Amino acid sequence: MSDTAFRARARSVLTGYGRAWLSRARVPLVCLVDGLPKGTSLDRDGCAMIDLLIDNGQIAGVRPAGSGPADDGLDLEGRHLWPLLIDMHVHLDKGHTVGRAPVSGGTHPSARAATTADRLAHWRHDDLIRRMEFGLACAEAHGVAAIRTHLDSHAGQAETTWTAFSEIQARWAKRIALQAVGLVPLDAYRTDHGRELADLIAKQGGLLGGVTRASGGTHGSGLEDIDVLLDALFLLARERDLDIDLHVDEAARADALPHVARAAIRHNYEGRVTCGHCCSLALMSDAEIRERIALLADAGIGIVTLPTVNLYLQGREQGVTPRWRGVTPVKELRAAGVGVAVAGDNCRDPFFAYGDHDMVDTWRQSVRILHLDHPYDDAVALATIEPAAMTGLEAGTIGAGCRADLMIFEAWSMDQVIARPQSDRTIVRAGKISDVALPSYREIELTSAQLTPST
Ligand SMILES: [Zn+2]
Repeated sequence: MSDTAFRARARSVLTGYGRAWLSRARVPLVCLVDGLPKGTSLDRDGCAMIDLLIDNGQIAGVRPAGSGPADDGLDLEGRHLWPLLIDMHVHLDKGHTVGRAPVSGGTHPSARAATTADRLAHWRHDDLIRRMEFGLACAEAHGVAAIRTHLDSHAGQAETTWTAFSEIQARWAKRIALQAVGLVPLDAYRTDHGRELADLIAKQGGLLGGVTRASGGTHGSGLEDIDVLLDALFLLARERDLDIDLHVDEAARADALPHVARAAIRHNYEGRVTCGHCCSLALMSDAEIRERIALLADAGIGIVTLPTVNLYLQGREQGVTPRWRGVTPVKELRAAGVGVAVAGDNCRDPFFAYGDHDMVDTWRQSVRILHLDHPYDDAVALATIEPAAMTGLEAGTIGAGCRADLMIFEAWSMDQVIARPQSDRTIVRAGKISDVALPSYREIELTSAQLTPST
């Protein structure tokens, strides 16, 4: 069936109501919650050919290909079918400020300064709502199922941002599941604001977070009392039963990670802590890497790598071509049993001038940057079941009882999925074809002054 005929057929079958069979769908094994159906074999990319029964927006059953009725439903003819993906580390509050914030130059310290200037000048309620909703509209059009966002939560800003976020969280609940993490430099936890923020986050059902650097400082310096600060953070979290998600070692030279792991163990917080970035780990000696990874495994810490943004920020120096990729040693972490997810991080802001909240794009780039190919193994897990396990967000899986949130690619092999941007993917939400288009930059970028010709 041609692409056009297939799409027309999909539209008539996937209405969100009643029962419909999707037959001959090629699904990555790692996403099948009940494993490989009996009588099914895997293709060379680790995908199974299955039939899928959808009933009233839910997946009602998974069978080997050929089990469903032959003439009814939608025949995928072996096209790739994936669950919608999870983006578990973004910054909705910073997003879409790249044309407005001071020029950052693309380095971490200058991006931080540019963001601070933009925050102090502009981050009021309406501005936050407008930019966060633009980001979510992009994510919705690309088929993102769920998002965990960090929110800059400095004194004087936290109340405004969290109020705007909770409005959006309620408004978008049926479209994209949202979680939020309070982000402050770690030394905020030696001030009254640390406790006030923990109370605010507890009230909003969020996560306690932070970045392992001092206010106004860079990663790798200025936190001589890091263990004291981490103890303060973990005590606040424990008192309020909050999970923790930290920005850690986003630099070539920094070593806060073992401190965080030891704090998680000290406070019996195994399995409740996520660390994002951890870039410097990749540049340590093999022995140092092994030692830190063993500690992470003991502490049950999940790691999020942000390849597109760290490729952009790390190793940037005027007149120098970058010599490393900025990513953490994902393969070594996974081999030791540490959970790892990939995520999008910043989007069109001083930390990253590009991005579009497209997790398929983030995952495709991650495969190439991290060498998650030859073979692909369970690389799809990094955008599906791994972030689902770390966040508790219900998405990224295919099986009886899961919501029918799916993507169909015009691709019959993993290399085809990765080779093209998949801009023509068919997105299905709760069993119904989604027609949501990408929002125009006109909605966010152009002020009335920009639309008026200068005289
Ligand atoms: Zn981040």
